[in-house]
Amino acid sequence: MSNQFDPIKEKIENLKQLLTQWEYQYYVLNSPTVSDFEYDETLKQLIALEKQYPRLVTPDSPTQRVGGKASSKLAKITHQTKMMSLANAFSYNELRKFDNSIKKESGLNEIEYCLEPKIDGLSVSLKYENGFLKTAATRGDGLIGEDITNNARTIKTLPIKIAYKEPIEIRGEVFLTKKNFAKINAQILDKDKKFSNCRNAASGSLRQLDPKITAKRNLSLLVYQIINKNEEDKIKQQSGIIEFLKLLKFKVAHEIKVCLGIEEVINQIEKFNVIKNTLDYPIDGVVIKVNQLDLYKTLGQTSKFPKWAIAYKFAPAIVTTKLKQIIATVGRTGRITYVAKLQPVELDGSIVSAATLHNAQYIVAKDIRVNDWVKVFKAGEIIPKIIGPVVEKRTEKLAKFIPFEKCPICGSKLEKIGDDVDQYCINNDCKARSLQAIIHYVSRDCMNIEGLSIKIIEKLWDHNLLKSITDLYELKNKKQEIINANLHIKDKMFDKLILAIENSKKQNLSNLIFALGIRHVGSVIAKKLAQIYQNMSNLMKVNFEQLMATKDVGETIAKSIVNFFANTNNINLINKLISFGVNMSFLTTSNFEKDSIYYKKCFCITGSFDIPRNEIKMRLEQKYDATVVNSITNSVDYLIANDFSSTKYKKAIANNIKIITEKIW
Ligand code: AMP
Ligand code: ZN
Repeated sequence: MSNQFDPIKEKIENLKQLLTQWEYQYYVLNSPTVSDFEYDETLKQLIALEKQYPRLVTPDSPTQRVGGKASSKLAKITHQTKMMSLANAFSYNELRKFDNSIKKESGLNEIEYCLEPKIDGLSVSLKYENGFLKTAATRGDGLIGEDITNNARTIKTLPIKIAYKEPIEIRGEVFLTKKNFAKINAQILDKDKKFSNCRNAASGSLRQLDPKITAKRNLSLLVYQIINKNEEDKIKQQSGIIEFLKLLKFKVAHEIKVCLGIEEVINQIEKFNVIKNTLDYPIDGVVIKVNQLDLYKTLGQTSKFPKWAIAYKFAPAIVTTKLKQIIATVGRTGRITYVAKLQPVELDGSIVSAATLHNAQYIVAKDIRVNDWVKVFKAGEIIPKIIGPVVEKRTEKLAKFIPFEKCPICGSKLEKIGDDVDQYCINNDCKARSLQAIIHYVSRDCMNIEGLSIKIIEKLWDHNLLKSITDLYELKNKKQEIINANLHIKDKMFDKLILAIENSKKQNLSNLIFALGIRHVGSVIAKKLAQIYQNMSNLMKVNFEQLMATKDVGETIAKSIVNFFANTNNINLINKLISFGVNMSFLTTSNFEKDSIYYKKCFCITGSFDIPRNEIKMRLEQKYDATVVNSITNSVDYLIANDFSSTKYKKAIANNIKIITEKIW
């Protein structure tokens, strides 16, 4: 280890990277991978460290900004007054501290507070002019939000017209009732596609491009704030604002309470804690606001939140258990994912025996060690997470976690690629990788070998009948062996499989390039390469500079392609495929509808239609020279949708991808 190594700096860097990634997933992608609780916990750690080491605070730290960036494709609305977040408290002592600072700043002996449920939805700003709803916007990054006016209008608890003529900006929370959330999730049959929490579902529903769909989701709104109240206005208290909003026929929370002094607030929170699960809307805490509005100016605000309010967050169910083992799993691209094996323990009604640890950096940042007692929690989300080790409970001297150096399956050295936080097994012969590689090769967007399910592939693998991609094309010679192997593959089924495998030889070059599993080469890039180079032998000869000159191909992709074709194993694979008669050329028809807006566009499909998706894919390719991919990425132009609750649909909406519901094929 060099002298320059600074463990604190490293730790801060790790935390910042984690938080930045989570913020991006939460705010920009709309698909959080950690719960608010875990985010808050980690942020607290960072705040504490930065407080202790102020010289290590950098402008890019998540502590230095509000929220994430506004989505780039929705119409933007600039907030006249910043939409702020709220300071958090997790203990009553933090509330007492908050109370003391308010007393000090205001010079008052006792403060009156207004207590409101903290609804777990999305904050919105509603502007009314001449009594009519003019615009509705999401918070976005606090300064610029997204225009969701048309969608907001569909919310039945939102009055389109109010009995107040002056321009007024009202803020509140859009959410789904627990009942509606359950209903929406119940309609989604695929387990993996269900919304992971209520807030997510509300967000996906509000940020639709088609208000008709939003309307079907039955969103709700509760309001709690007026921004530009006239100076001469008679309302002097937050509780008065709530009353006034009620008069304007907005819905406000029933449970709002005015309390004198912080101890009464705490008392009230205790009561709230008892009834919180009986409420029909999702709450993750209580908001405590200074009731006297004229104190707001005196108290002021930080860059992130007002100083006259604080959110008390309820603690999620937490259990402590022993971490027995840290294992690593290997994906198709060789990426390593760490998993914690736990001593089974009951949590929120189910038995938990494993939790995800993401990557080595995550484990190191949290200093989690094998045989540690760890705190495990579930907060809204379905997958359990580890908060961190209980350091006081470390009895023996436990060894610090050291990232695995070797692949758990094949033993070859793991590598980091570029500045990716993940580790990879780069051995092409790795069992885990090659099994995954076969699964990828036969999949729909690749060689599309129908009937060859993951289960069958695994069975064939276990019987040593299918160990590599090239083995696929030799299966036809193993009919008796396969039928005798008791794999539940009968005569007819075997013939069907072989036919599908034989047919796959005619697949287009673009499919084959994608099927080869070249790292960073997705189906869109594969198609581009096929169009440009026309056949495999041209592509194999291409050099780094030529690739770099190709549109949409950056350094990472170019390097990856060059490396792929520099590997003799890959060359052997391609030569073998050629000997089996697999097509190596790009096939085009010249009858494309070149004037269509869909010409050469990239599509994704969700839901089922009157003809199979493969057929739709083929027709789109033939009609528009289109690319059809299986997941929503930046390259997708259109999502053809018939399932409005799928993950693809949600992602498309979040990324402003156009939705098509007509049969354009
Ligand atoms: P957070 O996002 O955890 O920082 O909490 C701040 C958010 O809480 C605000 O932006 C609002 O969206 C939300 N919130 C929910 N209920 C209330 C309430 N009664 N008063 C203020 N903010 C609330
Ligand atoms: Zn390996």
